[in-house]
Amino acid sequence: MTLQRTFIMVKPDGVKRGLIGEIVKRFEQKGFQLLKAELMVIEKEKAELHYMEHKEKPFFGELVDFITSGPVFAMVWEGENIIQVSRLMIGSTSPESAAPGTIRGDFANSKQENIVHGSDSIVSAEREIANLFEPLLTRFSNQNLPYDEQRKT
Ligand code: GDP
Ligand code: MG
Repeated sequence: MTLQRTFIMVKPDGVKRGLIGEIVKRFEQKGFQLLKAELMVIEKEKAELHYMEHKEKPFFGELVDFITSGPVFAMVWEGENIIQVSRLMIGSTSPESAAPGTIRGDFANSKQENIVHGSDSIVSAEREIANLFEPLLTRFSNQNLPYDEQRKT
């Protein structure tokens, strides 16, 4: 058992294109559990923290402008190995390498405007959840209980 939590976000292009339901549906169908969701406009400072690993990249300014350009649908999901599995479901960053059947492979045609974000590691997931929701959400207080039981506690 490797129960994990991750931060998944429908980016402004995905929200504008009406893809929130499609993306939520894919994660639900996979058997993952939605713990938290909010339509929000990200503040510039938080966007810069979210993408801090790309601070030195030439596209950083453009990326922060894009991610703050409209509402995103930010979510916390939980499931077995969800960090690795969600990255597979999302697909590669570039449209020319994102496989059909993945979210980006099916819907994205731009390297920047690629519909959805998913954390790439446990450390990133904890940082991203704490940045846009709250640090408490990253913790498993009753990790050994099945999800339905956890919700009752
Ligand atoms: P991800 O983990 O697959 O989302 O990809 P990265 O961590 O490499 O990049 C983060 C995000 O920055 C991507 O999802 C894109 O929205 C954007 N991005 C990545 N590479 C480029 C690029 O070369 N140009 C532009 N304009 N945006 C990029
Ligand atoms: Mg990344």
